[in-house]
Amino acid sequence: MATLGNPQETIAVLQKYGFRFQKKFGQNFLIDTHVLDKIIAAANIGSEDFVLEIGPGIGTMTQYLAEAAREVVAVEIDKNLLPILEDTLSDYSNVTVIHADILKLDIQKLAEERNAGRPIKVVANLPYYITTPIIMELFESEVPLDSVTVMVQKEVADRMQSGPGSKEYGALSLAVQYYAEPYIVANVPPNCFMPRPAVGSAVIRLTRHKEKPVAVKDASFMFKLIRASFNQRRKTLQNGLHNSSELRVDKEKVARALEKMELSPSVRGEKLDLAQFARLADLLSE
Ligand code: SAM
Repeated sequence: MATLGNPQETIAVLQKYGFRFQKKFGQNFLIDTHVLDKIIAAANIGSEDFVLEIGPGIGTMTQYLAEAAREVVAVEIDKNLLPILEDTLSDYSNVTVIHADILKLDIQKLAEERNAGRPIKVVANLPYYITTPIIMELFESEVPLDSVTVMVQKEVADRMQSGPGSKEYGALSLAVQYYAEPYIVANVPPNCFMPRPAVGSAVIRLTRHKEKPVAVKDASFMFKLIRASFNQRRKTLQNGLHNSSELRVDKEKVARALEKMELSPSVRGEKLDLAQFARLADLLSE
């Protein structure tokens, strides 16, 4: 089977199998070898690595991954792609395709069985509708993880990487940065895909922190504070945390914590960085 990664080969495969794109699965296949090379280089895959690919499509990136890694498991939800993958990946003995919804798969068990519980690398051109749930699931669960290198909407990549003071900064930035070091590898325009998506994309690498960047007694409480702060972005932190039905924190208590932190009583949540949210969570849970 020919090497994929350009428009001609992609069209040939799609026509051979009479494949029809399904919008609900977020199917935009990569047709640019430079972008594929960049993803593989950024993911830093070596011959010892076990790679989990989410959504192989017709197997374009899977071929690249199989060349670089020890073993690749590719999880695809669309059964119409299975005969295609069997064909396009027939030359690679180190690839297994699993027909499943990644959101329902026990990834921890997979890592245990296939990589003896050692940290795995996740690489994907993600269907955009599952970007946040799958990334949060990977980091919040006990899956042994080295890094996640993914194609996402450009706007989402910017949100993951931004800090206080930028308009993209929000709960997703803090959640990602608590678990990982984000690095935007490349911006990718719509013409690198078939069919073309409506928005620009970016490849982002999230390298899991060996140790958390902040110490907090109750991380789940901190994330409740973060969500409440950004749910009401234009409100002061005092009002935001008080109004939140999940929290209902006493305004006085917030005021005292802010004073201890030497922050203005009218500060908004969007001004606080991760270390400050951690401190606030500890003060409020005292
Ligand atoms: N990796 C291919 C490429 O780069 O050309 C395809 C990427 S395409 C953006 C996303 C792929 O994920 C599609 O093949 C789609 O069918 C698959 N997919 C969508 N939802 C999924 C899910 N919940 N679990 C597993 N695969 C999924």
